Amino acid sequence: MAVIGGGPAGLLAAQRLAEGGLKVRVYEAQATVGRKFLVAGHGGFNLSNAEDAEPFAGRYGAEETRFRALLTYFSPDDLRAWAADLGIATFVGTSGRIFPVAAHKPADLLRAWLGRLRELGVEINTRRRWMGFDGANGLRLRDETSGQETTLEPAATVLALGGASWAKTGSDGAWVPLLREIDVPVAPFAPANCGAEVAWSEFFKQKVGRAPLKNISLRVNDGPPLRGEAMLTEYGIEGTPVYALTPQLRTALATGPATLFLNTKPDLPPETLLARLRQRRNSASLPDFLRKALGLGAPVPTLLREAAPAVATYPPEALAELLAAVPLPVSGLRPLDEAISTAGGIPFSEVDEHLQLRQRPGTYVAGEMLDWEAPTGGYLLQGCFSTGAWAARGILVRLS
Ligand SMILES: Cc1cc2nc3c(=O)[nH]c(=O)nc-3n(C[C@H](O)[C@H](O)[C@H](O)COP(=O)(O)OP(=O)(O)OC[C@H]3O[C@@H](n4cnc5c(N)ncnc54)[C@H](O)[C@@H]3O)c2cc1C
Repeated sequence: MAVIGGGPAGLLAAQRLAEGGLKVRVYEAQATVGRKFLVAGHGGFNLSNAEDAEPFAGRYGAEETRFRALLTYFSPDDLRAWAADLGIATFVGTSGRIFPVAAHKPADLLRAWLGRLRELGVEINTRRRWMGFDGANGLRLRDETSGQETTLEPAATVLALGGASWAKTGSDGAWVPLLREIDVPVAPFAPANCGAEVAWSEFFKQKVGRAPLKNISLRVNDGPPLRGEAMLTEYGIEGTPVYALTPQLRTALATGPATLFLNTKPDLPPETLLARLRQRRNSASLPDFLRKALGLGAPVPTLLREAAPAVATYPPEALAELLAAVPLPVSGLRPLDEAISTAGGIPFSEVDEHLQLRQRPGTYVAGEMLDWEAPTGGYLLQGCFSTGAWAARGILVRLS
């Protein structure tokens, strides 16, 4: 059994296949496995989410129905049980996100996992790059150290080569032509869960630089608002609600300009906001007044001035409208390589219900190389684990 790609999707598929009694060999192009998995650990290692099953499946957008089934087979609870079985306890944070307890670093989890794979007899071959298919059953592999090429003929293969962001971790999307060679179309890659670019004035960049915006909401054009915290940056804006809005931003940008509307006081009813703004005395500067009346300090006044240069002269009604919907014109998304995840990949129409390539029976696909996207919050890793477990199940069913 060959598993190509040593990320979370491939390693979980390898584990499940080995637990099913099969001899498994993993081939990974980099010198070590799980590089992106470890990168995911830098910003708080969010393994999954404790959200209820229905809204959880809804996070996968167009693929909701398929993921409902995948998540039933390998659920967030299964993921927690899997980690516990490796000696890694997890907890549910206030936002519902599931993390390993503080004592466990991402590298501890990976180390324990690799130990388990060794016990199960899984052979991990690093610096082995898959170079394409060979005939009906062959896989071409290149030894990255010697440059030597070999051909394998495994009984079944799992491809788990990842998306196309953070290329330095090995997820470089270089596999696309290898799939196209066997007539498997690949939906174009696009950045998902990434920052949005806003052409700030030089004055704004110098005065604000990087600054957090707490307890705000954001929406794209007339779409539904998303709550959270964002970060203003030199290039634009980033943070959880911005990442979650990348599908809507991408759609809007494909046909014209996109605008993010920022509500600086989403908890305040519009009448209360207006009533407070009506108390303003002309002697108070706008920044002082906003701080005292609404608790809105820096960078909000500068942001208001950037969006509406005459804001200091606005009557309360116009100011209330602006505070509830500060327009941020988005000129683009950040480059793919910086994105947390990748949209695009192998369409689900190209695989059967077991995630087996229709064009190549015996070859299964798992993880981010499939065409799905989901927001941050543990939905990405959960999606990779669930597809990895399901692909392994497909092979076990096939071989039995
Ligand atoms: C900064 C950052 C933070 C993140 N934080 C989180 C988080 O907190 N929670 C969450 O759920 N998700 C998070 N993610 C996303 C998560 O890490 C990915 O979704 C996940 O790693 C994808 O798993 P995968 O197995 O599909 O692919 P990958 O992890 O990308 O693994 C694919 C592997 O295949 C190998 N490979 C590629 N081509 C070949 C080839 N030709 N031959 C052999 N090997 C090959 C690659 O070297 C790589 O090791 C984060 C991502 C980033 C970048």
